[in-house]
Amino acid sequence: MTAPDFNEADRKPRKLHVVTHGCQMNVYDSARMADILRPLGYTTVDRPEGADMVIMNTCHIRERAEEKVFSALGRLRVMKEEQGGNMMIAVTGCVAQAEGEVLARRAPYVDLVVGPQSYHRLPELIAQAHRKQGVVIDTEFPVDQKFDHLPDVAAPQGVVSYLSIQEGCDKFCSFCVVPYTRGAESSRPALSVLAEARRMVALGAREIALLGQNVNAYHGEGPDGATWGLTRLLSEMAEIEGLERLRYTTSHPNDMTDELILAHRDNPKLLPFLHLPVQSGADKILKAMNRKHDAEHFRRVVGKLRDARPDIAFTSDFIVGHPGETETDFQDTMKLVRETGFALAYSFNYSPRPGTPAAALSQVPDEVKNARLYELQAELRRQQDAFNAATVGLTTPVLFTGRGRYDGQVAGRSLWLQPVVVEHGAELTGQIRNVQITSTNTNSIVGVLLPQEQIAA
Ligand code: SF4
Repeated sequence: MTAPDFNEADRKPRKLHVVTHGCQMNVYDSARMADILRPLGYTTVDRPEGADMVIMNTCHIRERAEEKVFSALGRLRVMKEEQGGNMMIAVTGCVAQAEGEVLARRAPYVDLVVGPQSYHRLPELIAQAHRKQGVVIDTEFPVDQKFDHLPDVAAPQGVVSYLSIQEGCDKFCSFCVVPYTRGAESSRPALSVLAEARRMVALGAREIALLGQNVNAYHGEGPDGATWGLTRLLSEMAEIEGLERLRYTTSHPNDMTDELILAHRDNPKLLPFLHLPVQSGADKILKAMNRKHDAEHFRRVVGKLRDARPDIAFTSDFIVGHPGETETDFQDTMKLVRETGFALAYSFNYSPRPGTPAAALSQVPDEVKNARLYELQAELRRQQDAFNAATVGLTTPVLFTGRGRYDGQVAGRSLWLQPVVVEHGAELTGQIRNVQITSTNTNSIVGVLLPQEQIAA
């Protein structure tokens, strides 16, 4: 590889391909890495072939995450060889953080392994990788905040933009690697969040989703020197002209304060939608998971939120077959699901993550886990269909985000984030228009556009 000199005024154009796995935090991080590298001459391309640099931004949550990374890296190795070695390969994200040394040993053709706290150091690390033989690894948790060193958002994300405000977690759920891969909970100062939100709106955002692994534990420094919680931040964000819709993800039930619950009643821009993972409905399993709340607490929070905002829709996450889960425990989960009623939920079989406490316990047999997951998913699917069917006949504001899959269709999201399509010839991207929902099918909701003057119900 020819070593770049980033101090030269002349920035040779370079192609960057970023592959993103996992959650919205990773999508946000990938966009920010592209922002960091843009002043160095890198422009993003859709395909890895011919790229000067490929970043694989990884996720450690799902089963066999490492194996998937290694097989994708194997394909990149072939491309790199075909390009005479002129392709820098960087692995970032949670697999990089958790498996840095293993990655360097098993895939020595990788040039860089960078943990989520070090993205702001990418230019320096790239220069190091060009100088050095072997893999450059940076998986430190520096004491300084990476957000302080990131450049301003440069590329538009679109009508819906994601803004990371908090990272890391102190909760140490037994199945989760986040506290080990993203470090301790830390929040960005409120002013920097607000400034970034304004830039996003100037670049076309109408809806902003605030992101954090434990976003409702946000406690950023306010301009007045006081600590701001999420409620205060959301209320200041609601003042931004041109920003029409707000939401936040992912939340922990213990951090749903009464103040934040009431924001769902009082903040006019906050969507009636909340992703609130519960994982299990059995207290014994919640304790084994170290979730630090019981099922009753979750039910109470849901009840208060419904009192504050009766049309609120909930989504959640479930893990089936955590070590020690009996049939009775599983049926407690089913009971909680039936009582709560979810618009959508993500459910997975428990899979031991190396290095997490639950991995060392005796495991529930696969066939038992599979049967329980099947039962749970059938109920969740039924609830999702029922939720969507209940919106037929309603009029809802839809934020249009682009063209639909078929000619003559435009697509957007309802107040409850359902994908909505309507037949319409003209471009509506960025507009919020009232739509009457007419029918639902497996993956989307169909509606008709109402005249501008018709007010949404
Ligand atoms: S609260 Fe969420 S991010 Fe934190 S350890 Fe538990 S599952 Fe992981």
